Amino acid sequence: MVGPFVYGALPARVVFGSGTLATLPRELERLGRSRALVLTTPQQSGEGERLAGLIGRAAAGVHAGAVMHTPVEATEAAVAALSASGADCVVALGGGSTIGLGKALALRTGIDQIAIPTTYAGSEMTPILGETRDGVKTTQRSLAVLPETVIYDVDLTLTLPAGLSGTSGINAIAHAVEALYAEDRNPVTSLMAEEAIRALGRALPRIAAEPADRAARADALYGAWLAGSCLGTVGMALHHKLCHTLGGSFDLPHAETHTVILPHALAYNRSAAAEATARAARALGTADAPRGLFDLAGAVGARRSLRELGMAEADIDRAADLAVRNPYWNPRPIERDAVRALIARAWAGAPPAEAAA
Ligand code: NAD
Repeated sequence: MVGPFVYGALPARVVFGSGTLATLPRELERLGRSRALVLTTPQQSGEGERLAGLIGRAAAGVHAGAVMHTPVEATEAAVAALSASGADCVVALGGGSTIGLGKALALRTGIDQIAIPTTYAGSEMTPILGETRDGVKTTQRSLAVLPETVIYDVDLTLTLPAGLSGTSGINAIAHAVEALYAEDRNPVTSLMAEEAIRALGRALPRIAAEPADRAARADALYGAWLAGSCLGTVGMALHHKLCHTLGGSFDLPHAETHTVILPHALAYNRSAAAEATARAARALGTADAPRGLFDLAGAVGARRSLRELGMAEADIDRAADLAVRNPYWNPRPIERDAVRALIARAWAGAPPAEAAA
């Protein structure tokens, strides 16, 4: 039986395709903006300069100061650069780190943003901003941080290294999996979630085999857009809480941590979220969704243990304690011993636990 449910759509204009970067001048004009500060990471400053060249006089400069987890010091430096540049909007070209910087600027100054994502993290479709102060990450939701326009250009993802493509794509799948069993799930978001898992699940092994496969890249970016939309419209649960805790407290890499944890988090929840697990399995074309996700991580060559990501075995207990503190809503109650067992399996790289008989 359908419902009851509440669905809130988010305002955003999305331009998708190959070569869509060329639409940037038109999109700037559409927003009524004429001078853009281009944001990138230091690693992508070359792409930023090329983009500035493309828009010519509409470029107010390139600020290549985006850093993972949006530290406030990096944002303060960018606020100063923005005000010195005389820009009337920002163009964030990059992954979640760069898009996070654009959002932090929008929160402080109200400036319009055009996001041009080059990974599958999905931040461009969410009103969520995570920021780090003195090493502590806090997250807030505000429509003020949602980019006005998002340009997805498949061509820009061709350079995303094969390894990061796999883990970034599974990070996106995690948004969709948790959307399927979210407390505030709804039929529209669930449709997007299932399609996201299907598109990414098929595309990622093809990209691992041939990173320049443009059709696979298009499927993956389409899935990432859908998954980001899921993250933007419904709440997340145990999996995101665990990744947030592990990433923040043990300094583990974002997308790889998601890749290790997801099969185990879904196995933990499957008895309490049977329909969601069945939909994920259908989308992956497998009988067992947690196992399918574990195998997908293997197929893209990702590391499948927290041990390999650098976490010490002695930290498993502290991780379990932190993960059960201030828990997010979750379909299955958060039980400390079971969460510890989940983390221990993920640490060792064991396959996800079998379903209880
Ligand atoms: P990232 O943005 O940190 O990028 C990783 C590295 O890859 C960077 O050096 C970047 O310059 C490089 N890179 C990106 N695209 C490339 C490309 N096409 N070719 C070559 N190199 C490329 O990584 P990410 O996983 O996209 O983002 C992670 C961050 O985003 C985390 O801080 C996470 O918390 C945040 N995030 C936020 C949300 C949200 O809704 N607020 C959602 C997802 C992720």
